[in-house]
Amino acid sequence: RAKEEGRNQVRFFLEQMQEHADRRQQVEENLRQAIKDDKLFVCYQPLVKSNGRIVGAEALVRWADDNSGLINPSAFIPIAEMTDLICSVGQWVLTDVCKQMAEWERQGKKLVVSVNISPREFQQSDFVEQVQDIVLGTGVRAEYLVFELTEGILLNHIEAVKTKMQRLSQLGIRFSLDDFGTGYSSLQYLKQLPLDTLKIDQSFVQDITTDSSDATIVSTIIAMAQTLGINVVAEGVEKREELEYLEHWGCRLFQGFYFSRAVRAKRMGALIPEAGENQLREVPITSYKK
Ligand code: C2E
Ligand code: MG
Ligand code: MG
Ligand code: MG
Repeated sequence: RAKEEGRNQVRFFLEQMQEHADRRQQVEENLRQAIKDDKLFVCYQPLVKSNGRIVGAEALVRWADDNSGLINPSAFIPIAEMTDLICSVGQWVLTDVCKQMAEWERQGKKLVVSVNISPREFQQSDFVEQVQDIVLGTGVRAEYLVFELTEGILLNHIEAVKTKMQRLSQLGIRFSLDDFGTGYSSLQYLKQLPLDTLKIDQSFVQDITTDSSDATIVSTIIAMAQTLGINVVAEGVEKREELEYLEHWGCRLFQGFYFSRAVRAKRMGALIPEAGENQLREVPITSYKK
């Protein structure tokens, strides 16, 4: 009977796996169609200084599905990342962002915008050419673009990663390392790559006022970034108290619901400060010698 039960369990497990696979395939198919039908759109979350002044924004994709309504990226990006579908999503997002930035520029508004780039997109052999085409095609100034990479890209040979980053830097693009602290980055890597900014993952920021080890991790990351001469952004700031801790440790750049959620492009456009010219100086380019 044990054998019988075991067989049932295996069958149950296999059925579940099949269901998972089916659902994943369904999402993939719907997403592919959504890209064609222009059902994706980009929201922008302000990046601010302590005084609330906006010095940039992060582009965050959303999917408006006819049946399911608004779908957040955590529900489809990980699935897209399993295949080359993420490359289509990424191209669509970057193009849409660059068009929007060019439109803002025509209105006399300049905003530094950061875009999330998945490891698989970055790995494409013609990634730099794709980016160049989009930049040229939309007429955007690449100096206003920041690419957010995760530690996942370091699974590749560091030299190849570095070379590609340098080629993109030559276009004017800068880099930040996203979700910092959740991966396995060695400080050695940090030093070698032309990184402009570290973004401390929100999971650490969440508990700084209650968990002393998270407080230590965060204050150490801030101090380390300062030593290396790179900017540091605290992600996921939700409370006044968290902001106070972070400022006390020397962090000057923030993103989080305390200041603003991600908003539609139109609203973001209205929020862009007049003297947008100063943004580049306020978020200094530091690490280009590397
Ligand atoms: P991420 O790049 O780390 O982006 C920050 C996420 O944290 C966003 O979620 C943002 O809305 C959320 N967030 C910001 N402030 C707070 C806060 O104070 N509290 C809380 N609880 N959350 C906050 P979102 O938009 O759902 O995006 C989730 C992830 O999906 C992103 O994490 C990024 O990894 C990925 N993603 C989003 N858009 C794109 C894209 O265009 N391309 C790629 N490859 N990935 C994307
Ligand atoms: Mg990000
Ligand atoms: Mg992040
Ligand atoms: Mg994340």
